[in-house]
Amino acid sequence: MKRIAIINQKGGVGKTTTAANLGAALARLGKRVVVIDLDPQANLSVHLGIEMNEGTPSIYHVLLEEKSLAEFILPTSQENLWIVPANLDLAGAEVELVSVIGREQRLREGIDSWVRSFVSVGRPEPADYVIIDCPPSLGLLSVNGLVAASDVYIAVQTEFFALRGLTKLLDLVELVRKRLNPAIVVSGIIPGLFDARRNLNKEVLQELRSFFGKRVFQSVIRENVRLAEAPSHGKSIFDYAPESNGAADYMSLAKEVLGLGTTESPVQSATPAARETTAISEKHEAHEAAASDIS
Ligand code: ADP
Ligand code: MG
Repeated sequence: MKRIAIINQKGGVGKTTTAANLGAALARLGKRVVVIDLDPQANLSVHLGIEMNEGTPSIYHVLLEEKSLAEFILPTSQENLWIVPANLDLAGAEVELVSVIGREQRLREGIDSWVRSFVSVGRPEPADYVIIDCPPSLGLLSVNGLVAASDVYIAVQTEFFALRGLTKLLDLVELVRKRLNPAIVVSGIIPGLFDARRNLNKEVLQELRSFFGKRVFQSVIRENVRLAEAPSHGKSIFDYAPESNGAADYMSLAKEVLGLGTTESPVQSATPAARETTAISEKHEAHEAAASDIS
């Protein structure tokens, strides 16, 4: 089971959109996917059509009451896609967790005990992918996401400030790797909100590729109004606008995650210079080596 934390301490960079739609795309490709909403704003829960009432299950109980994830997994309208919702209670969790022993590992324990309940009776693992949508901060909730993860995907907006703050984020990942979760790797950078008409977007994409090398996905998520509309309908992009660029981009990303290769997207052909990852220049390799030292 692959456990992916989608993280960036900046808000509005596409983490939640990616958790919902990458999750839905993987589910459509036949994988069993559980997405976990770790943001008190509960945007992911709303995006996937969960009605938040009193008594709606919440990840809060896993973090603060040592419950197994199993009790809080809800189905969505997409076959093979489940969600562990969040609610506003979670806003207090960050503070409440401070005094808890093993506070950084609560999510991992909740996931582990769920998986154990299957494996210990000879059943297969209950999911192929767990995708954790982290909040826009580097506090205890995000740390719980990192400790529970095998893979870290960083969602970035292809804007001027994209690289700012990434050092701090990579430092945190490194700290978590050293102290709490040696298995963790930053294995994917997801460039989003991309507009090929803007030179700045292309430059930032190029900069990301030259710094992170092959770890930047070939699939680029274009700015697409359908992606912004889908959450208010409580639907993934595949149910809301299956013919949109947003659906095409997230399907392409999912295939890349599965190692199925990608179809040539308009973004890729628009920026041939930016995607020379097969014949990486020495400069790229040097950057790559520098970057892998810290993850
Ligand atoms: P984060 O979780 O990082 O805060 P979101 O995924 O919530 O970011 O995205 C921020 C806003 O931008 C949301 O309103 C979302 O619908 C919109 N959005 C995200 N990705 C795209 C995209 N590729 N094209 C257009 N709008 C997008
Ligand atoms: Mg979000």
